[in-house]
Amino acid sequence: MTDLAGLLSGLLLRIAKHWIAGETLEDAIARAQQSSAHKIRGIINLLGEEITAREDAAAAAAEYLGILKTINARRIQSCISVKPTQMGLAIDESLFKDNLRKILSNAKSLGNFVWVDMEGSPFTAQTVDSYIESRKKFDNVGVAIQAYLKRSEEDVSRIIDSGGVIRLCKGAYNESPEIVYKRKNQIDENFSKLMRAMFERSKGFAIATHDEKLIEEATRLSSVHHADFEFEMLMGIRDKKKLELVERGYRVSEYIPFGKSWWAYSVRRIREHKSNVFLLARSLISG
Ligand SMILES: Cc1cc2nc3c(=O)[nH]c(=O)nc-3n(C[C@H](O)[C@H](O)[C@H](O)COP(=O)(O)OP(=O)(O)OC[C@H]3O[C@@H](n4cnc5c(N)ncnc54)[C@H](O)[C@@H]3O)c2cc1C
Repeated sequence: MTDLAGLLSGLLLRIAKHWIAGETLEDAIARAQQSSAHKIRGIINLLGEEITAREDAAAAAAEYLGILKTINARRIQSCISVKPTQMGLAIDESLFKDNLRKILSNAKSLGNFVWVDMEGSPFTAQTVDSYIESRKKFDNVGVAIQAYLKRSEEDVSRIIDSGGVIRLCKGAYNESPEIVYKRKNQIDENFSKLMRAMFERSKGFAIATHDEKLIEEATRLSSVHHADFEFEMLMGIRDKKKLELVERGYRVSEYIPFGKSWWAYSVRRIREHKSNVFLLARSLISG
């Protein structure tokens, strides 16, 4: 790496550290311990996606087994979250299912839980179908559903009917208007609709948003439906709100990514909030 490329990469990593714990598992464990001191559970995620070599997918799955072992040995209050294409979905669906099965079985033996993240639309159908299939064997797995996708109402319904656990989020990928709602008010409206269905019909789920209005709507729904649910937020975003919700008696978890492949994740975070573009520009100018 040239000096300039090295400098730039160092600067970008400094910004990325707003949203990622660092490059090592120890960084993620340290963050999960800090969160746990505030009664917030961790959701540890090893960064990496769109893997194209079978060995790399197998290596990522093996790394997750190590993460589960460490969480268990050190009694860290944390589950894990995996990406389908990190487990090989972009290569071959059966490779993804095999890797996921290994992780679920290992997590189950350790009494831990696994979330399956939802990625871009080329992977939605396979992720939902594989999730419903794996749920028949494993009760320690949940899946993210994106409220911006027009198909999500049907997916939510299918997953609830199959007894699955949903993490409802808005969706972070750049998709075509044919398949997603593009305007914030449409996305929020759909989020609200899906959230109501979950409060009415689902046994357990997570509301994953930093949106004040939707969070408060969830608290109102929870006083009527008494559902088993938790709030989930990303590391580095709305930390005060997390503490406030804990104080008010709600369960809160924090998504804690770590690893060397921090670029794609950080770009999604920068893109979704204007102030982060200023943050990026300021850091690049001040060095
Ligand atoms: C636990 C968790 C897991 C997730 N898993 C997935 C997944 O599997 N697949 C997927 O596509 N997406 C996932 N997401 C991301 C999600 O889809 C959204 O892109 C992201 O949460 C921003 O949407 P929002 O609900 O916070 O609402 P927004 O309307 O984007 O934001 C609401 C408010 O939150 C704050 N905020 C939101 N984002 C930022 C930011 N980047 N920087 C600073 N402030 C911000 C601001 O105050 C903003 O006004 C996940 C999110 C969470 C919390």
